[in-house]
Amino acid sequence: MADCLFCGIAAGVIPSTKVYEDDQILAFRDINPQGPVHVLFIPKKHIGSALDITAENSAVIAHIFEVAAQVARDEGIAADGYRLVSNIGEYGQQSVHHLHLHMIGGRQMSWPPG
Ligand code: AMP
Repeated sequence: MADCLFCGIAAGVIPSTKVYEDDQILAFRDINPQGPVHVLFIPKKHIGSALDITAENSAVIAHIFEVAAQVARDEGIAADGYRLVSNIGEYGQQSVHHLHLHMIGGRQMSWPPG
């Protein structure tokens, strides 16, 4: 999608620090990490947010969660636990309108979130 930051990262036009990549998804380090580990998982094909998940495009979401489990093990945060979160819209404070799953780990989290 034109003018989409994460489409640019998925296409390799905008640089990122890649953690995992295959034909469907990309995982890369967040530029403003909120913990010792902060990885973003995106579908390469543009999906605006979790509100846009349908029966036609939902398989990639399962794939992201499957890969995220392996990345958590590889990053050394699986045993202690970590957080997966996807922000949606204004109240959810979504700033990049290309669906992404945050993986934040390596520190104790609190709940509820701010
Ligand atoms: P959200 O606020 O949930 O939409 O999350 C967007 C995330 O993208 C934020 O955590 C940003 O720090 C991160 N971000 C923005 N630009 C980049 C970039 N060029 N490379 C890596 N992460 C980015």
